[in-house]
Amino acid sequence: MKITSVRTAVIDGNFPWVLVRIETDKGVSGLGEAYWGAGVAELVHRAARYIIGQDPTNIGKLMFIIERVLSGEGAQGGTTVTAMSGIEIALWDLMGRAHQLPISTFFGGRFREKIRIYADCHEGDTPDPAEYARRAKEVVADGFTAIKFDLDNENPYTLDVTDDTYPSRQWVEPYNRVIGSQELDWMVSVATAVREAVGPEIMVAMDAHWKFGVNDAIKLAQRLEPLDLVWLEDPTPPHNIDALVQVTRSTKTPILTGESLYTKWGYRDLIEKQAARIISPDIPKMGGLSEFKKVADHADMYYIAMAPHNVASPIGTVACGHVCAAVSNFLVMEYHAHDVEWWGDLVEGGNPLVDGFIPLNDKPGHGLTLNEDVAKAHLKKGSSYFGETPYA
Ligand SMILES: [Mg+2]
Repeated sequence: MKITSVRTAVIDGNFPWVLVRIETDKGVSGLGEAYWGAGVAELVHRAARYIIGQDPTNIGKLMFIIERVLSGEGAQGGTTVTAMSGIEIALWDLMGRAHQLPISTFFGGRFREKIRIYADCHEGDTPDPAEYARRAKEVVADGFTAIKFDLDNENPYTLDVTDDTYPSRQWVEPYNRVIGSQELDWMVSVATAVREAVGPEIMVAMDAHWKFGVNDAIKLAQRLEPLDLVWLEDPTPPHNIDALVQVTRSTKTPILTGESLYTKWGYRDLIEKQAARIISPDIPKMGGLSEFKKVADHADMYYIAMAPHNVASPIGTVACGHVCAAVSNFLVMEYHAHDVEWWGDLVEGGNPLVDGFIPLNDKPGHGLTLNEDVAKAHLKKGSSYFGETPYA
């Protein structure tokens, strides 16, 4: 079997979903997805020339080749790795279809038959903590057993970066990583309102988007301890792992990070320094399914759990679900499309997300078939529909 073509279609979801289709001379094909980013579809085609004519089942070797030939073009991190991730996921789907086995089988089989998903709820309609509580209850009523809110946005005590008036006596600049005391109280009251609204059964996480310095991050994490959050995400900026180590060691609130790292090498220091209790690779961005498996196994030697970041369509989400099923230290995976009503319509046979879980089946590959009509109706302006170049 030989690869004959690599094609892309960019779907206009809440993010641009970069779908990758790989075809062979035996009529078997695979469908993958790369995380969004300017130029990702172009980079898929840039990489494709090095694998056309090759055996698609030698996935490790093909990825090694692409990494070597694109080593001067970002193959250590960034959108080149993202493009490679979409190719890799398509190759695993193709492998599954060629051998009539689900992807999870190739990673050692399943610890679980359904993948727990958390809903990213962002924020309330207003800064009133009661609005966050209302939103939390609404999402839990939809079946989710795990939810996340942003703590760093909409804080009425933080100066709006676009507003040059000072809205409060205790206004706080967003640039210096310092938390004002009213600002801190507001964050704690939001998290408290959400926890009280949903009770102890639900996993509650809070995201801080790399905003704070070490001491203020510790203050926040310690104030949140009585709420037993499943994690506090990205309390400090992403550049300095040693700074994050101090936060992680100073609080019982588990610290999570890792959505912007690439390849197993990018996670090496984070894991070996035990800078976080939970890590969040974005699988269609950081290298793909096998790269994630390597990171998960490395993390497991430090008893670190995995909670993948995810903004993908059903194709990327379910494909990643297969490798999540195969790692013991999987905790929960993100779902970012709660407001995209047609998310589940992009594939045939019904929404793969059922009551806050992705149930896996035994169909070959990731088991999904694209709904061509829905995909075409939501094709991103300027993208080709599975052309051999990114544009029509
Ligand atoms: Mg995040």
